Amino acid sequence: MLCEVNVSYSPSLSENGNIDVDLHPQVSVIIPIYNEVESLVSLVSAIAQTLAATSRPYEIICVDDGSKDGSISLLKELAETRTDLRAVIFRRNYGQTAAMAAGFHYAQGDIIVSLDADLQNDPSDIPRIIAKVEEGYDLVSGWRQDRQDAAFTRLLPSKIANWIIGRVTNVRIHDYGCSLKGYRAELLADMNLYGELHRFLPALAFMEGAKIAEIPVKHHPRRYGSSKYGLGRTLRVLMDLLTIWFMQKFLTRPMHVFGSLGLVSMGLGVLTGLYLTIVKYGFGQNIGDRPLLILVVILLLAGVQLFSFGLLGELLIRTYHESQGRPIYRVREVV
Ligand code: UDP
Ligand code: MG
Repeated sequence: MLCEVNVSYSPSLSENGNIDVDLHPQVSVIIPIYNEVESLVSLVSAIAQTLAATSRPYEIICVDDGSKDGSISLLKELAETRTDLRAVIFRRNYGQTAAMAAGFHYAQGDIIVSLDADLQNDPSDIPRIIAKVEEGYDLVSGWRQDRQDAAFTRLLPSKIANWIIGRVTNVRIHDYGCSLKGYRAELLADMNLYGELHRFLPALAFMEGAKIAEIPVKHHPRRYGSSKYGLGRTLRVLMDLLTIWFMQKFLTRPMHVFGSLGLVSMGLGVLTGLYLTIVKYGFGQNIGDRPLLILVVILLLAGVQLFSFGLLGELLIRTYHESQGRPIYRVREVV
């Protein structure tokens, strides 16, 4: 639910020069952090400045994903001195998706904005993202039109991946990999993230019936630290895409898919079997050494298996939905 805009709110400066944010935050900014100690201070102050200028109650949630470079002690220090910052510290490195999921979990705002810790995303874009969400979108994704990463190992694979992902998921945005995104909190409450699926948030959101928009954002080269990913990521992204595709297709109706495949296979098996029976008893030919006989057996067995797989799928899907209290529909509003 979008809370009413608190017009009377004006940020007050506390003794230590920070902005006091005691009110329920309207905007939560979440940042996954893995060995980014050099950029943290300027990142946090840039975000705070930008958001304070919008006069909205906000909070910054830094999720440390098992850093080993001193990010943790710096974050603890920041969390102690700033009232607008909370730090969530993981026991070990779980990956960016887990860090983002934790950020979503601890965020209290009605609008949640995620961005990278390495200053590649520009905090000055945040107000535009928020404005777009408030226009009525559930998810607003940044589009790094002028992306500053290595051409061959990053830009090219990413271009291809974006194209394929767009085709498969039917969510045609240009830049799935951009971490700078805005979300309506109620949308995220409906979603579970696994593996490295944060990249597919727009696709997952679309499956939940979200309205999605894209706006161009700035992008800078990495100034400190090093990228946590390389060429190997492309393959993992493609594997994740298979998962998404599978979920999209089969999540609500496994029996339709596997059941019909099973029926087709069994049908073909029965027909071919009939043909062989006629050949044997009608024409007295020997069929024991015919490859077709093996095909009949395979078709029938595969058919039975696919069919039972569909039934099992139905059972699993029911457990999946019911154990989590997941409805099979999502309501935008009831008027
Ligand atoms: N990150 C993380 N856990 C990881 C890897 C990365 O929290 O295991 C964070 C990282 O600190 C950064 C963001 O995810 O804030 C994106 O990582 P990176 O900048 O290396 O990715 P790139 O911009 O090169 O795609
Ligand atoms: Mg980066």
